[in-house]
Amino acid sequence: MSAVFRNFIGGEWVEGFEAVANINPSDTGDVIGHYARTDAAGLNAAVEAAKAAFPGWSRSVPYARHEILKKIADEIFARKDELGRLLSREEGKTLAEGIGEVTRAGQIFSFFAGECLRLAGETLASVRPGVGVEVTREPLGIIGLITPWNFPIAIPAWKIAPALAYGNCVVFKPAELVPGSAWALADIISRAGVPAGVFNLVMGSGSKVGQAMLDHPDIAGISFTGSVGTGRRVAAAGAARFARVQLEMGGKNPLVVLDDAELSVAVDCAVNGAFFSTGQRCTASSRFIVTDAIHDRFIAALTERLAALKVDDALDATTQIGPVVDESQLAQDLDYIALAAKEGGRLAFGGARLERAKPGFYLQPALFTETTPAMRINREEVFGPVASVIRVGDYEEALAVANGSEFGLSAGICTTSLKHATHFKRNVEAGMVMVNLPTAGVDFHVPFGGRKGSSYGPREQGSYAREFYTVVKTAYTLA
Ligand code: ADP
Repeated sequence: MSAVFRNFIGGEWVEGFEAVANINPSDTGDVIGHYARTDAAGLNAAVEAAKAAFPGWSRSVPYARHEILKKIADEIFARKDELGRLLSREEGKTLAEGIGEVTRAGQIFSFFAGECLRLAGETLASVRPGVGVEVTREPLGIIGLITPWNFPIAIPAWKIAPALAYGNCVVFKPAELVPGSAWALADIISRAGVPAGVFNLVMGSGSKVGQAMLDHPDIAGISFTGSVGTGRRVAAAGAARFARVQLEMGGKNPLVVLDDAELSVAVDCAVNGAFFSTGQRCTASSRFIVTDAIHDRFIAALTERLAALKVDDALDATTQIGPVVDESQLAQDLDYIALAAKEGGRLAFGGARLERAKPGFYLQPALFTETTPAMRINREEVFGPVASVIRVGDYEEALAVANGSEFGLSAGICTTSLKHATHFKRNVEAGMVMVNLPTAGVDFHVPFGGRKGSSYGPREQGSYAREFYTVVKTAYTLA
């Protein structure tokens, strides 16, 4: 076995109680490396180190934090091709998508390097004569970060960067399936001048390390991205001990296509939004809600595009759709494909497991037509390259169907009508709305998040991130 990539606790690289192979989903014979796994003991040690580091770090001058975050951003940018390749190799999104994600991680660190210098408070006059009031923001404390496998570097970046920028200490637990990108990011952070204990990497399982994080009394806040089921546990644990929580969970994102849409724009939005990144994005479109007069033309053009897509090894430059992340996710996708057919959906394209030159988890994109809003395929998140079409009579019905979901992350509409676009932006129940754009693909400097069962707590990203990572203090002075 090659050298084991270790955890980073209190400024030291530390062994785990076991080491697990990280497998390439495009080629299951390719082992990327062995990564240490810790448990509650490692988590506790990381929290102790963070506690010791917090007084100094939380009072460090903003410029010191700015320089550190800028250094992290610079190294990410300089190594984007290599890190993008690692990401695609362990997660399965295409090389272009992997490099794009790494670039985004660099942009996030660069943005928050700037935010270090922009954190400001307010000064107000009291209602009492001679009394002044200052409202300032202080770091929250020790923050636990729990991330999923689908964005192995961007999601960690959009939690770690604001946490550090605002003066918090971090204990970071990445998803079990993608330790490679997390380790590479931790390695960069470890060399950027962060004092020991300020940033800690604790790789391990959700049930051991994750659960210990939820229960630890000294962790002041947990930012989590993952499934609804785990999110509910995080919220309950936070409520039980008054820890702050921020949850990003699932989606069942609608893309409405109206009769007056530009067909090529609608097809581009559908292909990109539902199937790129193998559909493994919480912002992916999975419900195409299409009005009568464009329905048949839309399906014909979309299936033609799907038939031309190349599904293959993520590292092959001509691949457009990489593999599913692992065997169990592939099984889940296939189960939903079988279920949709059983519920009465018509399989208009794809849905079969594919064999390629190398053994991997390849799945043909799947498109169902003739589905109804009540079917499970239209209510539950699949998290794969699977989408279904719901035919509707008009815009009003389309909006009602779009809103008829427990989720509310992202929503899209393809139309050339200013009236309908404007009404949709105002009335759709989603945290993010896209007009003539794919539901997935958001910027790094503006808020990200949803409504209903998709998100809970303050928004992530952009300057809105400070709502989670800082705590407000109101100070009075009699002059
Ligand atoms: P997914 O279906 O995307 O894997 P999960 O919610 O299972 O969604 O995983 C997202 C993250 O939550 C991962 O880092 C995982 O290890 C972690 N996790 C899973 N179970 C728990 C738990 N009981 N407590 C804390 N974290 C958990």
